[in-house]
Amino acid sequence: MTTSASDISRDQSAKLFEKAKQYFPGGVNSPVRAFKSVYGTPLFIERGDKAHLWDADSNEFIDFCCSWGPLILGHNTPEIREAVSAQLGKGLSFGAPTALENDLAELILSNNKKIEKIRFVSSGTEAVMSAIRLARGYTKRDKIVKFEGCYHGHSDSLLVKAGSGLVTFGETSSAGVPKAFADETIVIALNDKAALEQVFTDFKDQIAAVIIEGVPANNGLLIQDKDYIHFLRDITKANGSLLIMDEVITGFRLGFEGASKYYDIQPDIITYGKIIGGGMPVGAYGASKELMACISPDGAVYQAGTLSGNPVAMAAGIAALNLLAQPGFYEKLEQTTQDFVAELRAFIEEKGYEVHLTTIGSIFWFAFSSNPKIQRADEIDPASMEKYKVMHRELLNRGIYFGPSGYEVGFISAAHTEEDLKTTIKAIKEALDIVF
Ligand code: PLP
Repeated sequence: MTTSASDISRDQSAKLFEKAKQYFPGGVNSPVRAFKSVYGTPLFIERGDKAHLWDADSNEFIDFCCSWGPLILGHNTPEIREAVSAQLGKGLSFGAPTALENDLAELILSNNKKIEKIRFVSSGTEAVMSAIRLARGYTKRDKIVKFEGCYHGHSDSLLVKAGSGLVTFGETSSAGVPKAFADETIVIALNDKAALEQVFTDFKDQIAAVIIEGVPANNGLLIQDKDYIHFLRDITKANGSLLIMDEVITGFRLGFEGASKYYDIQPDIITYGKIIGGGMPVGAYGASKELMACISPDGAVYQAGTLSGNPVAMAAGIAALNLLAQPGFYEKLEQTTQDFVAELRAFIEEKGYEVHLTTIGSIFWFAFSSNPKIQRADEIDPASMEKYKVMHRELLNRGIYFGPSGYEVGFISAAHTEEDLKTTIKAIKEALDIVF
């Protein structure tokens, strides 16, 4: 019989958290980090190397959070470290163009035919916020349609029924968003063609854009049918609305052309973040030349940033994407993920446990449900998160670091070795034996 592993020491993390609470709301600088929906205080991380993390109590973990997605190459990648170090000696920020911006753009645009021009910003939130403004400026319409459970950053218009951070805290929206702003955002369920048709009937000629996550991955992993995404593409086009595909997670995770390639569609605007910066704060949005001509300084849609295209961040992004552009990189990572998932699925089936392992590319999610194909936020039973909580504790105590919320997905990086995954599979099996 499998028994619970004893709790790891969190003395130093607990002390640091007490101190952090004096400085930061909730003791953190981003809410999900507060471990509100799992057991214990948050772990304060000291360092990472390859697929491993060490916390302030010297506990070692195999990391599947990967900084919430950016670290597709793991921690402390030598090529990225060297590129960043080289730039550090030349300067941290100039507020003027650098050749590095050209180099990163060239690397992206020559490998990604879904966009013709790109603009770098400093976060995914900024990328999406700017894409929305571009869509509104271009169409001269105000309304935005988003999907329940999709998270697109924390800008006002998009904090309506948005993903794990908000679900985790029992709210579907945020205080401080003016009603007038929220009124411009219409929220519908994913994977529901009739709801899409209805919204275009109700708000005819008012919808600037529909925005969807490449693959919704902030409220579970809600893989949409290709047929539905094509329907979404067609209906937006027919109504003169733009389709914004938010690829902040899926961009460069499912390949250079992300979910747009997976679904084989051409969105009007695509947003990026996370992986594009190699672990540094970078976001971006891209579109056709015609659309991007609307952006300042040539166009009337204003968008700017003191640290946009920051040279250190660009250097990190270039080093990272050069590694991702190597032939076979994504195929190998996806095969590794498939093998990992297959062994766990076989175990789950043999035991008859009520949990499904959903996966796409190198992303995975444990759905504690009898439904093998969850595609909408309202198909997730909030009570199932109790099971995740137990699994999370058992995994941490066995040296495996998963995101601190059952709504969050896990990521496999190129730094995860066979040995890491073997250790993880064993730990997950033991954890599931305890959950059930
Ligand atoms: N869009 C998606 C799909 C995201 O997953 C996120 C963050 O998790 C964002 C936008 C916001 O990005 P950032 O946290 O860099 O502002």
